Amino acid sequence: MGHDFDVMTTVRPKPDSATVAAVDAARAALIEEVDAADVGEHLGHIIEGERLVTHLFACERPGYVGWRWSVTVTRAPRQKYVTVDEIVLIPGDEAIVAPEWVPYRERIKPGDLSPGDLLPVDDEDPRLVPTYLVGDDPLDADDKAQVRQVAKDLGLGRVRTLSLEGRDLAAQRWYDGDSGPEAPIAVAAPDHCTTCGFLLRIAGPLSEMFGVCANGDANDDGRIVSFDHGCGAHSEVRLAKKHEPVPVPDPVFDTLTPSEIETF
Ligand code: SF4
Repeated sequence: MGHDFDVMTTVRPKPDSATVAAVDAARAALIEEVDAADVGEHLGHIIEGERLVTHLFACERPGYVGWRWSVTVTRAPRQKYVTVDEIVLIPGDEAIVAPEWVPYRERIKPGDLSPGDLLPVDDEDPRLVPTYLVGDDPLDADDKAQVRQVAKDLGLGRVRTLSLEGRDLAAQRWYDGDSGPEAPIAVAAPDHCTTCGFLLRIAGPLSEMFGVCANGDANDDGRIVSFDHGCGAHSEVRLAKKHEPVPVPDPVFDTLTPSEIETF
């Protein structure tokens, strides 16, 4: 148990000698509240303010390794008696404490959704932007159909579409993940997806960087892959001579019967 809190006394101005010296008074107040066996050595003090000091004592209670009792004492102006403000148990650097609370929404990871689960997206989600719908215009039915088709092709038929930020986040995530060049399978691959016959090209702004793997034998079948990703199922992979299977000779048909053998 260290005395690291002594260091903190140097940053506080005007230490009050009566409150700083009130270790015994602080300990006495503490053991009125808790079992004396739970109170360990004095670890130091913190100057909280003018005539306001917190004394720290080790906590010896089983299961509370690294915790300490904090007893705050004070003294009124022109009074010589020190009084106790507060007694609490606080965690130190070595204390085992619960992990910081993470809101449920932030804890969800890809793969957590089960059939029937709903995961609403915030109205303010920066990954999406509103899309302007096409329809209230003086075009005739044929023209409208054409315009709607164009709008559909461009993705304008949706309430919201991917924002620039949403697109960049997705591209970075894919590139840094199992579909990118640093994935172990890609590092060990003989060649990149960009030269693989199974790479399906996509349209749109990410078409210069990503495609979809269409090799049913590959781990990435049906997934987005970066051009510099790769795997051992690359279409142009050939085995070295020594790894090729040994050719099997043509089968020999044995047509001899026992009676034919006896005639020899
Ligand atoms: S088979 Fe392998 S190399 Fe070819 S596109 Fe799929 S992941 Fe890329």
